[in-house]
Amino acid sequence: MPKKVSVVEKIYNANDQLALENRAKLDEAGVLTINLMASPGAGKTSLIERTLEALRDRFKIAVIDGDIASSIDADRAAAAGATAVQINTGGSCHLDANMLRNALSQLDLKEFDLLIVENVGNLICPAGFQIGAHKNILIASTPEGDDKPYKYPTMYQNVDVLLINKIDLLSLLSFDMDYFQKGVKILSPNLVTFPVSCQTGEGFDAWLNWLITAIKEA
Ligand code: MG
Ligand code: ZN
Repeated sequence: MPKKVSVVEKIYNANDQLALENRAKLDEAGVLTINLMASPGAGKTSLIERTLEALRDRFKIAVIDGDIASSIDADRAAAAGATAVQINTGGSCHLDANMLRNALSQLDLKEFDLLIVENVGNLICPAGFQIGAHKNILIASTPEGDDKPYKYPTMYQNVDVLLINKIDLLSLLSFDMDYFQKGVKILSPNLVTFPVSCQTGEGFDAWLNWLITAIKEA
């Protein structure tokens, strides 16, 4: 039994080492890198599209899309004006630092102000794998239900920013915002939170202001 634990620890340590190397590369290039995580369908790609629309004339933006298969999301990011790289994980349900390292080698990082990494849709293991991004960002969406912080605490404890998407649907759902936010507060009392709608654009100004400030600080 202890042998098995030590193997797992070695894998984590190797990943963390590569994540540090990725971070050093991103710091040197001065490109703010955000790691977007969420369950499938929460609106990661829609958030990227709307963010690109708002910022593509002001900043040079690259997108790295992680998916088990297909290039659908990278194609959408490219259509919205980003330089896009697709990572197909071949079955793996999260990105790791080595996958990001390979994708970074396809970009001239110094050319960019912002790099958005769209992780594989999954609320579980992406939280356990650092990839070297400056900010870890979670998108929760109202149709997923208000109990998600209670069910997936590790994810909520390991992110810097929370976007609550699809607030335009609140009147149609039994989503209890107070119950949801109470759960978030228990896990991460000072988590920066933006309620948004990628459909209507509601709440986007606050999110964009936060992002622009972070880009300028990188
Ligand atoms: Mg997507
Ligand atoms: Zn996984």
